[in-house]
Amino acid sequence: MGKVKNPVCGRCGQPGYRKDHPACERAERTERENARKARLRRENGPAYYVERRAKDAKLPVEASVMLERRPCDVCGAEAPEEPGHNNAYVRADTGAVTGTVCQRCTKTLGTWDYNAERVRAALALMTSETDHRASTPKR
Ligand SMILES: [Zn+2]
Ligand SMILES: [Zn+2]
Repeated sequence: MGKVKNPVCGRCGQPGYRKDHPACERAERTERENARKARLRRENGPAYYVERRAKDAKLPVEASVMLERRPCDVCGAEAPEEPGHNNAYVRADTGAVTGTVCQRCTKTLGTWDYNAERVRAALALMTSETDHRASTPKR
């Protein structure tokens, strides 16, 4: 077989090879990756997610599962029943796995962009001895 004279992209139908269309290549790769993930989910069920979370936290699966079953280090919420779980907490700045947070606390910390300075400022505000009522000028 000789070379194809007028190649047509199998994806968009435009002239040229797919590998020469960056957008088509990207779409193809994404599709293939999604299909691969869907197959893994189908084959492994919840185990797929367990392994993925462990991988994200760079933890052995057993260590990740152990942390996910612990109560939340912030509010004390117990891990929900299977297939529910709490989350291993990974520090955004160092990647260290520092403990366990429930889904609700994860969301709350996410609202503060996992920004420790903001959380510290909130804590300072919540525990401050300042009382603006005392300094309200008398009339
Ligand atoms: Zn194309
Ligand atoms: Zn919590």
